[in-house]
Amino acid sequence: MPPSSTPLDRAKDDHDNLEFLEEHPASLDADGMPGVWRVMIIDDDEDVHSTTTFALGNLDMQNRPLEFVHAYSAAQARELLRTEPDIAVILLDVVMEQDDAGLHLVRYIRETLKLADVRIILRTGQPGYAPEIDAIRDFDINDYKTKSELTRIKLYTTVTSAIRSYEQIRAISSSRRGLDQIVRASTELMSLHGVQNFAAGVLTQAAEILQMPANGVLVVQEDAAAHKELSIMATAGAARRLGNGRLTAREDVQIHAIITRTLAQRRNIYEQHVVSLYFAGKSARDFVACLTLTRSLSDIDRRLLDVFAANVSVGLDNVELVSHLHNAAFYDQLSKLPNRTRLVEILDATLAGPARDDTTLSLVDLDHFAETNDALGHQFGDTLLVAVAARLQACLGKQLTVARIGGDIFAVLGEADAVNPARILAQFETPFSIEGQDVRLSATLGLVRLGEHDGSGADALKDADIALKRAKTQQRAGHFYFSRSMGVEIRERVRLMHALRTGFASGELFVVYQPQIDLATRRPVGAEALLRWRMADGTFISPDRFIPIAEYSGLIIDIGEWVLRSACQEVVRLREAGHRDFTMSVNVSQVQFRHPFFLDMLQAALHDTKAPPEFIELEITESMAMEEPDLLIRMLAQVKHTGVSIAIDDFGTGFSSLSYLQRLQVDRLKIDRAFVTEITGSARGSSIAEMVIQLGRNLGLSIVAEGVEDERQAQILRSLGCPLAQGFLFARPMPAPALYEWLSADALNRVA
Ligand code: C2E
Ligand code: CA
Ligand code: CA
Repeated sequence: MPPSSTPLDRAKDDHDNLEFLEEHPASLDADGMPGVWRVMIIDDDEDVHSTTTFALGNLDMQNRPLEFVHAYSAAQARELLRTEPDIAVILLDVVMEQDDAGLHLVRYIRETLKLADVRIILRTGQPGYAPEIDAIRDFDINDYKTKSELTRIKLYTTVTSAIRSYEQIRAISSSRRGLDQIVRASTELMSLHGVQNFAAGVLTQAAEILQMPANGVLVVQEDAAAHKELSIMATAGAARRLGNGRLTAREDVQIHAIITRTLAQRRNIYEQHVVSLYFAGKSARDFVACLTLTRSLSDIDRRLLDVFAANVSVGLDNVELVSHLHNAAFYDQLSKLPNRTRLVEILDATLAGPARDDTTLSLVDLDHFAETNDALGHQFGDTLLVAVAARLQACLGKQLTVARIGGDIFAVLGEADAVNPARILAQFETPFSIEGQDVRLSATLGLVRLGEHDGSGADALKDADIALKRAKTQQRAGHFYFSRSMGVEIRERVRLMHALRTGFASGELFVVYQPQIDLATRRPVGAEALLRWRMADGTFISPDRFIPIAEYSGLIIDIGEWVLRSACQEVVRLREAGHRDFTMSVNVSQVQFRHPFFLDMLQAALHDTKAPPEFIELEITESMAMEEPDLLIRMLAQVKHTGVSIAIDDFGTGFSSLSYLQRLQVDRLKIDRAFVTEITGSARGSSIAEMVIQLGRNLGLSIVAEGVEDERQAQILRSLGCPLAQGFLFARPMPAPALYEWLSADALNRVA
């Protein structure tokens, strides 16, 4: 008789008692586990069931009795295991329906049911039926005993240690689950934008960790030291009744009390039905999340919540920081309006949305704001800008976006009907009252209809800017709508500008020379240096196209200097070749002329090339001569001081007065080609060319007629008293070597 038979009889006595235990409902304890340890006995021998329950009947661990679940076959065990929760220990007979039915069951428990926590003790009647050591390891079998080994004491200690190990495993896996949850919660929380969303997320995630429905409130205390009021940032579940304003004792005495206590003690407080989590925020802002519990918390729960709260504090700081950075990155700090970056985002969204066709963007540029700012001070200027922001926002309607995209440039975006020049400009009719002072402002608008726009939000803003520039050059206090052709034109110009920059650097520019002749003798007296650009692919770009781009981009400074130096060198070479009375005319653009170092540049070019200044002539246009007369007069006096002479190009197209011309001290007038072209026999005597010639003679100036294309024009000009001419009739502009050839051929002609 094996010793295991001994307890069998006694177990029978206690059978009722055991039955009674089984009928206990599996109530949950503080760890979320039943208030009992559930032990499952799987054995086809009924006696084993009774001896076991008898042996373990009065076992009580940590005030928790055992509760038995009985299965009499492997099949029945499978059924029960699917439905019975929280089995801590299985006492399993190896040999049942089949010799290895128990081992198959183990595989089923671990692999199919994925019950990893349950501890399994294998028992076998015969010592020979020991399972392979592999099976014990692979299926995490706690213990293996022959039934004969399992005396009452032995069984007692085996089950006790199995329960303890089950408890530990549960604790570990539940905290692992909790930690996983915290990590997931933190990542999820970080992806929420804004403190409000984050706060709501904290409540949900804390409840998730506890596997309870979320029911609670998260509050912030703005200045903990000053005991400021509590503002509700988020609520969940039944706590939603607290609203989203202040939290005082009037809303909920208990919640208010525990939160106040949490803030005072600066730590988490755990109570029977409520937990209050403390999150220390930076800059004297503290947060508390208060959750109502549906069960009391275990140690593991508390530890998890502590870790969670610490994590969240870091997160809240980050979110605040991120919100702050977000705010600084997307909003203008002075006016609190969206800034350029934010406007581009809004534009992108609008362009992608259904409202696109009916939306207009307008830039609003305050006229002469810089002067106001300088005159009245920056403080005043700031106040003025805030006033403009406020008026635009208040008066144009809430549906519109008003942004500040630059110092004195605002943007208005919205429905085309609302964003129209009349309405916007009307906002500037009444003066702004700043510090008791009435300030009148006007504005210039650049508008883009988004429906006609293809491209990004940033492109739309650029287009509006182009329209604004156009509006500014055309009239102050006006407006201009961007049109597609403007965009194409601008983009083409930008493309050309880049090409010109690289083209100039790689030697695609060269200078050609067009001779000027004496109409009486038909002998050359000089030449005009003209710039040419042949791109790498052989195409020529006309100077009428690229000179304005060079001027606009500032490239003309370097290019112009290079042309001047080339012309000076050529004069020197021509003189060496015997052409000693040869004057070289060089075109100088207004941009060059206004450059602060123009005079230095001119002097250096003359000095370096050793060109005699009296054979160098600078051509400036008449339109240029008309701007800023005083400055020009002073400037020309200095230029003349170097010894070079001055010609006024395209003369007749402007409206220079006689007296002004005298003050400019110019040497020569160039009759514009247009007036040369219109010279016909019949119009003789009343032509502009004739008037210019008369004027020049009266002032003692030299005259050159340009664009002379036929002999008749030459004859008439000569008879009108024009001494010099330039044009295709005599020679086309040509590169230096061709000029030399032309000059020597001309010399041969004259000899002949
Ligand atoms: P511009 O100063 O009025 O130059 C005279 C233009 O008339 C030149 O055009 C020349 O080739 C052209 N021309 C000369 N004779 C005749 C003719 O008989 N018939 C016709 N139809 N045209 C004639 P181009 O070379 O195309 O230059 C155009 C403009 O580009 C110049 O007008 C000048 O304003 C500017 N430019 C050329 N080179 C330079 C330069 O080096 N610097 C600056 N700032 N501007 C330059
Ligand atoms: Ca010229
Ligand atoms: Ca000209």
